[in-house]
Amino acid sequence: MRLALLGPPGAGKGSLASVCEERLGLRHLSTGNIFRQEMARGSALGRRVRRFVTAGTLVPDSLVVQVMVQRLRRLPRAAGVVLDGFPRTVGQARGLQAAMGRVKPLDGVVYLETPERVLVARLSGRRVCAQCGANFHLRTMRPRRAGRCDRCGGPLTVRNDDRPDTIRRRLAIDRAKAQPLLRYYERHGMLHRINGAGRLGTVFDRLVRLCRREGWLKGSRR
Ligand code: AMP
Repeated sequence: MRLALLGPPGAGKGSLASVCEERLGLRHLSTGNIFRQEMARGSALGRRVRRFVTAGTLVPDSLVVQVMVQRLRRLPRAAGVVLDGFPRTVGQARGLQAAMGRVKPLDGVVYLETPERVLVARLSGRRVCAQCGANFHLRTMRPRRAGRCDRCGGPLTVRNDDRPDTIRRRLAIDRAKAQPLLRYYERHGMLHRINGAGRLGTVFDRLVRLCRREGWLKGSRR
């Protein structure tokens, strides 16, 4: 099964994609995580994307598509995949389709519908391990030891782009870009919406129900 999770920043795409990896055996590919890792490594790609990521603006479509298609091509043909944070624009959706040729890049696209007050509360409480990238939350996913990662003991930090001004900018950019993307996938009969509010387990159950209904779960572990 190949899925893309869409939704504004804070809708829970990353957390849901991690659960899909753990419980359904899907490979979780997140453009945001790839860019942050490359920036931390100081690679050429990391240097090219740094100014966009720290400002909370979008990395140019051609570069994002190139990076994602490369990663997808490295996976075995039958591998199940959940894309998180990609495609983000119609240009990326078209670029993905064109680059994959006749290989169907996605079975479906799932939009996490989430009210803005939930988004802001989630984003401002988010903490990320500076060492391994694990996500925590001050209210809903607290680390066992304050300020330290449960997985590797690294220091927990606020992402630069989770600061209040940048959160507002990211939500505004997302609103402008998301509508045409949703219409694009709607026209292609690929768009499904689920409620992204509530606990992660509840949202995961909604997603699994959708996958069963659509017959996407064949061949994956669950
Ligand atoms: P995220 O972790 O998905 O919120 O992404 C963090 C940042 O990475 C975004 O604010 C953008 O600067 C960049 N980014 C991630 N995914 C994309 C994408 N599909 N297109 C353009 N920029 C992206």
